[in-house]
Amino acid sequence: MLRTIRGFKDILPAEIHLWQHIEETARKIFESYGFSEIRIPIVERTDLFRRSIGEVTDIVEKEMYTFSDRHGESITLRPEGTASVVRAYIEHKLYGGPISKLYYMGPMFRYERPQKGRYRQFYQIGAEVLGEESPRLDAEILEMLMRFFSHLKLAGTTLQINSLGCRICRPGYKDELKRYLGGKRGVLCEDCLKRVEINPLRVLDCKSRGCTEATSGAPSILEHLCDECRGHFHAVLDCLQTAGVHAVTNKRMVRGLDYYTKTTFEVTAEGIGAQNTIAAGGRYDMLVRDLGGPDTPCFGFAIGMERMGLLLKEATELKKPLVFVAVFGGDDVHAAGMDVIDRLREHGVAVERDYERKGIKPQLKRANRLGARYVLILGTDELAAGTIAVKDMEAGTQEVVSLEGIEATVVKKIRT
Ligand code: ATP
Ligand code: MG
Repeated sequence: MLRTIRGFKDILPAEIHLWQHIEETARKIFESYGFSEIRIPIVERTDLFRRSIGEVTDIVEKEMYTFSDRHGESITLRPEGTASVVRAYIEHKLYGGPISKLYYMGPMFRYERPQKGRYRQFYQIGAEVLGEESPRLDAEILEMLMRFFSHLKLAGTTLQINSLGCRICRPGYKDELKRYLGGKRGVLCEDCLKRVEINPLRVLDCKSRGCTEATSGAPSILEHLCDECRGHFHAVLDCLQTAGVHAVTNKRMVRGLDYYTKTTFEVTAEGIGAQNTIAAGGRYDMLVRDLGGPDTPCFGFAIGMERMGLLLKEATELKKPLVFVAVFGGDDVHAAGMDVIDRLREHGVAVERDYERKGIKPQLKRANRLGARYVLILGTDELAAGTIAVKDMEAGTQEVVSLEGIEATVVKKIRT
């Protein structure tokens, strides 16, 4: 049997309404904060990700789907969206206008070990603000993200926040952390022994027992921030408090991408197992310049769709109620039936029908199997009387109503 490749999956109709509901909610909320959608390519030059995410990150070192195209150029399936948004921002000189607030949704690709909540193709909804440095912006975007979760009625989320400093204060902290970790070499895992030299901050994020123990007493970045970064961090916390957004400071939190500066954060959720981070992001004030654009302070995040799906699986029925139109009789009855179906669809009602002109019984059976909420029954007698029967499949009741204006009658029933 032909199957999807490991780590890839189909999203079938049973799940799709939940996905669409999440996407529609994101559009509605993000647009109310002034965001517009941007659609970026799935494939980019490999170099873009090397230069943005960082050469010595797990993503670039071992997780990218990188190929040569037919001309021998190295191209990569995007592992995340920020790099492409920044590339587009520079390429199309979007910096000429006011601040840009852009969101995107779509698949990302990382060659990771598949497990619950972790796939090789996964979907993200991301948002990026380019051209604003104020801590008030950081707080507003975090507020927007938490509003998005609360509109989805997601309970048990925690916003964890930290600062990673900047190119002035981070090197000093890195050195101190390196010295501290130097004395702990005996207990660090193999990966982290390498990380101590090139990227000691990443050790703070390691889940292995030796490393967690070793770093429990490590110096904190928050005590090493320069005045500018410290001021920014406290301003973000103040604004969040004013906005009523609860945040927990986590001085051990670092991110797996090199471009972050100042504010970084993660949102975790309860009840979905080990892969419990549903969104992450922060400030990246140097990336636009590093990729060849003008100095542009930025802030962004990405939400993991599959993990949201796991959380909302039990959510209320989101599917549009289905109406089945059962027609039996001669050609004139079928013509009238088609007219009813047409009018309902014009009014946005989801309609199913029978294609084989079967009797009433098999049609009702089909309506039942399709999970129809209402069945409209039109036969020779009804047509002659200018009426149509409406069967409520949930209540098991049936009434006869006027054929004229049936679309309005049905729309009203569905809405209440
Ligand atoms: P993690 O710590 O879970 O590996 P990350 O730090 O690599 O996450 P980001 O690159 O910041 O994650 O991506 C943002 C969000 O995208 C994550 O919080 C998660 O919800 C989702 N995500 C990342 N990688 C995967 C994956 N392989 N499968 C499913 N979702 C993912
Ligand atoms: Mg990861």
